[in-house]
Amino acid sequence: MSTVIEITAIVLRTVPFEERHRVVTALTESHGKISAIARNAVSSRRFGGCLETFAAATWRIVPSKAGDLYRVDEATIRKSFEGLRGDFEVLALASVFNELMLRLAPEREPCLDLFKLHSNALALLEEWAITSRKGSSSVEPRLLIVLLNAYLSKILQWNGTQPQLLRCLACDRSLLDFSATTLLRCHISNAAWTCPDCGPKRSERDRLPKPHSSTGFQHEFFEATQAAIGDFYIGLTTPIRKSPEMAQGTLADQQALFSLMESLLVYHVPGFDRTPLKGLRFLPGIKGIFG
Ligand SMILES: [Zn+2]
Repeated sequence: MSTVIEITAIVLRTVPFEERHRVVTALTESHGKISAIARNAVSSRRFGGCLETFAAATWRIVPSKAGDLYRVDEATIRKSFEGLRGDFEVLALASVFNELMLRLAPEREPCLDLFKLHSNALALLEEWAITSRKGSSSVEPRLLIVLLNAYLSKILQWNGTQPQLLRCLACDRSLLDFSATTLLRCHISNAAWTCPDCGPKRSERDRLPKPHSSTGFQHEFFEATQAAIGDFYIGLTTPIRKSPEMAQGTLADQQALFSLMESLLVYHVPGFDRTPLKGLRFLPGIKGIFG
């Protein structure tokens, strides 16, 4: 007899398999990312909405004979996240978060931080979608990008990258010594910035290590405003649900911060490449190497 495991899972992707079955990939609380086959799931109502994308449910699974897959035998819904579907742009961002976890979450290895990040981000997005539906207004593009940036900053942190954001890398002056619109030079390889008075000299520039994804990678340096760096710091140090209300930067600051984030992720996080994230196409105001 196989051991039954009870597991909390959020569905990242679900695809039909041999007409009657489904293969579901999920982020779980205790086993990282897993894939499982749900037999006869297409016609049967046994699983309710538990296997729909975004659904959070308790699954009872057993290791399957088919290699890497588990088999789901039963599932009980905990939160459907159905409300996400009420707002198109919110749904697009939720899909981006799913794509990120599909790409990055470790398989069959606990990653509780990522699970919490993901479920808290989906919960906040669902609240926004419900509010925007009631008020017949769409969620501000700026807020969506703030949340995206905060989510990406948490991924960097999870990866072990510790950006140094409070002080100039060269002269130690504080971020708070500069006005919100001051342009700071961000160094992708160090995940740090230098102030306008410092800035590397040519010889130092030549010594900086090259990014691992070398082809056509243009962003060893990146300029971003003080406000954008400040919001990066808030994203790193604040629970994801609080970041949007704390962020100070304008839409343009958020857009610049997003470009900085993607350069940092490509440079620092294994498994990140420049394959576009599909959901980004549907987010207003986002243009980047992932989009
Ligand atoms: Zn300086």
